[in-house]
Amino acid sequence: MSLANKLAEERRGRLAAERLLEQKQAELQAANRKLGLHARALSEEIVETRAEVQTVRDENQRVKSDLTEAHQKVEIAERRLWHSIQTIQDGFAVFDADSRLIAANDAYLSVFDGLEAVKPGVRYVEILQLLTEEGIVDIGDTTPAEWREMMLDRWQGDAPGPRVIRLWNGQYIKLIDRRGHGGDVVTLALNITDTVHYEKELKAARRKAEAASRAKSAFLANMSHEIRTPMNGVVGMAELLGDTELTGEQRMYADTIRNSGEALLAIINDVLDYSKIEAEKLVLHPEPFDLERCIHELVMLLQPSARDKGLDLLVDYDMFLPTRFEGDPGRIRQVLTNLLGNAVKFTTEGHVLVRVVGMERNPGDPAQVHVTVEDTGIGIPPDKLDHIFGEFNQVDGDHSRAFEGTGLGLAISKRLIDLMGGRIWVDSREGHGTCFGFSIPLPVAEETAPEDMSLPDWLRRAIVVDDQPVNRAILERQLDALGIQVTSCAEGSDALDRLEDTDLVLTDHNMPGMDGLELAAAIRDAGHDVPIVMLSSNTGFAEQDPARRHLAALLQRPVPRRTLFAALRGIGRAGTHEQTAPPPEVPAPHTVPTVQRAMRVLAAEDNRTNRLVFSKMVKDLDIELEFAADGQEAVALFQRLAPDIVFMDISMPGMDGCEATRRIRAQETGGRRVPMVAMTAHAMDGDADDILAAGLDHYLTKPLRKEAITERILAACPADTRPPLPAVQTSG
Ligand code: ADP
Repeated sequence: MSLANKLAEERRGRLAAERLLEQKQAELQAANRKLGLHARALSEEIVETRAEVQTVRDENQRVKSDLTEAHQKVEIAERRLWHSIQTIQDGFAVFDADSRLIAANDAYLSVFDGLEAVKPGVRYVEILQLLTEEGIVDIGDTTPAEWREMMLDRWQGDAPGPRVIRLWNGQYIKLIDRRGHGGDVVTLALNITDTVHYEKELKAARRKAEAASRAKSAFLANMSHEIRTPMNGVVGMAELLGDTELTGEQRMYADTIRNSGEALLAIINDVLDYSKIEAEKLVLHPEPFDLERCIHELVMLLQPSARDKGLDLLVDYDMFLPTRFEGDPGRIRQVLTNLLGNAVKFTTEGHVLVRVVGMERNPGDPAQVHVTVEDTGIGIPPDKLDHIFGEFNQVDGDHSRAFEGTGLGLAISKRLIDLMGGRIWVDSREGHGTCFGFSIPLPVAEETAPEDMSLPDWLRRAIVVDDQPVNRAILERQLDALGIQVTSCAEGSDALDRLEDTDLVLTDHNMPGMDGLELAAAIRDAGHDVPIVMLSSNTGFAEQDPARRHLAALLQRPVPRRTLFAALRGIGRAGTHEQTAPPPEVPAPHTVPTVQRAMRVLAAEDNRTNRLVFSKMVKDLDIELEFAADGQEAVALFQRLAPDIVFMDISMPGMDGCEATRRIRAQETGGRRVPMVAMTAHAMDGDADDILAAGLDHYLTKPLRKEAITERILAACPADTRPPLPAVQTSG
């Protein structure tokens, strides 16, 4: 091959290579471009992904920190809760549905004193087992197995009730178990040792207080007995002394001894009553009684002391209120005595007025009876009004100190009225007067006979003469209700001017200026024969006056309605001056056989002074008296003497009166039952029942009264004996 060829071939070759190179370069460029585009897309994608990763990473971070915070909070809450549970002094534990312990506080665990077995996971039965085996719990008389069974039964119940267990060291634990959702059980073990001890102390204190109160009542009963026994000597002898020939001064001494003795007895009775009410021993004994009469009787009793002080004692009993009720007359009288007694005691001038009004709501229902006792006395300061119903409380002031008293009367009255289902109150103005009132429900008792309220036809108009407006008002009201037209005059001279228009003159006795008797004389002097009725608080005195003959009737003031009606019915029309009260009937003398034995009286009494008092009290009686110094002797004497009556002291050394009576009664087979009369200083309720149950027929409380003894002896006098008193009996 030529060079040229070679060169041409080489050039062709080179040219071809150059074209290939160019082509390859173009291809490379295209590929490069594509690669560049791809790389750009890729890097854009990377940037995007990176941003996303960052976001996710941030979120993750936040969640993580939130979680940590929440976790911390849970931990704190749990710690606090547990801390709280730990700090409570009582045991706390939670069990799961399989009765396995989940957790318990130290107080709960402390009971087990470090026993390792008691830890989370331990079963309730195992705990019970440990409690008995280790002697942690005091199971009393039950066996460990029984105790565990009982505790398990309770645990398995749906709602186990609380249960108190006692630990070996004397601590009391009250278990309270609550079953929750899913069967978990929460247990609270409360340490109630202090409460139990406190309760025991309280019980012991109460027992002690009750024993003390019983002792107090017994002491009071005994003291009352002990005081009454010598008082029997004091009052009885003073009474006897009064019956003997005495100079004025000696009589004053004897009366003082007797009055003081009686006052002391009243105090003893007050104290006794109060302690009875305190001990809830006082019971009411309702029976039919006449309230109006009861008030009038009381007023009569107080009349002498009121008269001595120049006080008027007035009664205003509601015209339309029945007088017979069912109630405890003794207790109602006691309240009234206290209120009236106080009113007279604390009043130096003016009057004391008892007013009774009432309402019967429906027939058959108890009537609500209001009684007020109004006085014009020293009054009670407002700040003391509530205070006086308390025990031993008196209005402390110079004036009240001048009056004696225990300060128990109103306290007793209040309790009695409470007991009757009523209420008591007081109104007072210091220096002007006081009004005590009480209101009690009282069933109306059957009237024995319908009352005759009719008056003579001629009696249409009356003149009432009284210086006291209250008195006039009461009489006006009473007469008005009877259909009589009343003219009121404050003084006698007024009445003298009006005699023409009247059928009757009703006058007071004591009046300033012309008194009632002088008025009566003046009326007659003036030539009038109108009937005159005089009301006096001292009829005994008026009875002696020559002017008495002018009166158609002389009535003791205050006058019960019935007595007033009866008197008005009994007077004759002008001119015929009759007396209302016929002279008391004298019992016809016994016609007696000539030779009769004397009555035989046996008295058993251990106290020498009292034997003396007794013998002196019956010294005027024509009887044969024998004494026994104790029960034994009484039984023996009874057989030998065959007495007609026996007086029996109850408390005597050796054989007492009740026992002696039982023995005597046992001896009395067939024949006559001899009346037996108990003499006792016991004044507690219930004593009377015991005494009567022993076979005694009657009951006399010491200090004995001459009159009461005489009455008993006379009542027991058999037909074949001489009457112990001369034929015309003058007892009483
Ligand atoms: P006592 O009369 O034995 O002191 P009471 O309980 O009956 O006891 O009365 C208590 C006190 O109430 C009396 O001491 C007296 O201060 C006062 N009091 C009672 N009634 C009246 C009255 N009618 N007027 C003034 N004060 C009275």
